[in-house]
Amino acid sequence: MVEKACKACRFVSEGSEKCPNCSSDQLTEKWSNYVYVEDPANSEIAKNIGAKAPGKYALNIKS
Ligand SMILES: [Zn+2]
Repeated sequence: MVEKACKACRFVSEGSEKCPNCSSDQLTEKWSNYVYVEDPANSEIAKNIGAKAPGKYALNIKS
């Protein structure tokens, strides 16, 4: 399965047509590096990238 990153919220999902996090269909395979956010409420990284749900978030997305 190809992992795709959402251009709107950076959420990384596998085999989805739509982002399970924000329902955007702007997904791309052209991304690199990710952070795993386990506890968004207590994570500085999550605040920096605007993550609200636990999961993988892409750091670099090519537009
Ligand atoms: Zn999204």
